[in-house]
Amino acid sequence: MIARACRITTCLLLTVVTGPASVTPHARFEFSEIHMGTRFSIILYSRDALTAKRASSAAFACIGRLDAIMSDYRETSELTELCRAAHGQWVEVSDDLFRVLSISQRLAERSGGAFDVTIGPVVRLWRHARRAGRLPDSERLARSRDLVGYDKLRLDEKKRSVMLARPGMAIDLGGIAKGYAADRAIGVLEQFGIRRALVAAGGDIVASDPPPGAQGWVVALDQIQSPGGPVVSLLLRNRAVSTSGDREQFLEAGGVRYSHIVDPRTGLGVTGQSSVTVVARDCTTSDGLATAASVLGPESGVKLIDATEDAAGIFVRAAGEGAQVTESLRWKTVPKTRPKGDE
Ligand code: ADP
Ligand code: MG
Repeated sequence: MIARACRITTCLLLTVVTGPASVTPHARFEFSEIHMGTRFSIILYSRDALTAKRASSAAFACIGRLDAIMSDYRETSELTELCRAAHGQWVEVSDDLFRVLSISQRLAERSGGAFDVTIGPVVRLWRHARRAGRLPDSERLARSRDLVGYDKLRLDEKKRSVMLARPGMAIDLGGIAKGYAADRAIGVLEQFGIRRALVAAGGDIVASDPPPGAQGWVVALDQIQSPGGPVVSLLLRNRAVSTSGDREQFLEAGGVRYSHIVDPRTGLGVTGQSSVTVVARDCTTSDGLATAASVLGPESGVKLIDATEDAAGIFVRAAGEGAQVTESLRWKTVPKTRPKGDE
């Protein structure tokens, strides 16, 4: 969700391994700002404070611009205006918006429609339902579901233009925009010559080269989802990691827990308390894949991760007191530290 009230995802605890200060002239800098309803943190190593400050300001400015483009909350965002204007006619959009929509459409195809950014009208109903504490009205849900379908979102690459086939359609980039923004931020830092950096946006984290003297950035994934879940600490370098799940945003009704991630096929929030962590080459990929896998469930979700170049993931589903854990083929090869008591 792009601009919900300020929420800080706590499922990823971040610790950073630093090299001994005397060995390197690099100093560690940390900055954070709220964008897209989430705290974005930048940790970087730089030889001078001015470059660190300038680079991080430029990175946050870039994230802010993307928020202004992709927010489905802001009345004036490019996305909101697109959804108002593009019914039945082609609308030219910015490079960033076109790129995110293209990546989203590819993921929609690859996931058999489990990931679908046209989910907007249904997500809105569930947002209200969470606030009201009761399930959405079934007729309204059925009407909203009729507006969902990635085949109704058309893209013209040559003209960088977008068309929505039906009035009332709404695009929701909440499942992918934070990852995209984190990737762009790392790119901006690189333009300033900063190669040792990490950008964290709640459960979406991307890292370039490791801190001086370290093998990687230690990203400790809190006990995923349930007390019986595994403790995992990743050593991240030139990779991204995203976690999706219903740990913080859900609706409980009639003894069932519905996630804020919606299955486009049913229009219902995903049930069966789960948490998916995906490591990929970039954060747009890990963010989108984690959301897609949450919808698909452990078996098909992990298959989709396995079918993605260089991606790895772990699907943890609550099962009684413990957890059912499904690992992708490459999960074992993801560099990790060995925290106490597990692995
Ligand atoms: P979070 O925003 O909690 O970090 P995710 O990246 O998994 O987690 O994104 C969840 C958001 O994605 C939802 O709040 C909603 O805006 C959007 N969304 C929900 N269901 C889908 C879906 N099936 N496909 C694409 N986006 C979705
Ligand atoms: Mg996501």
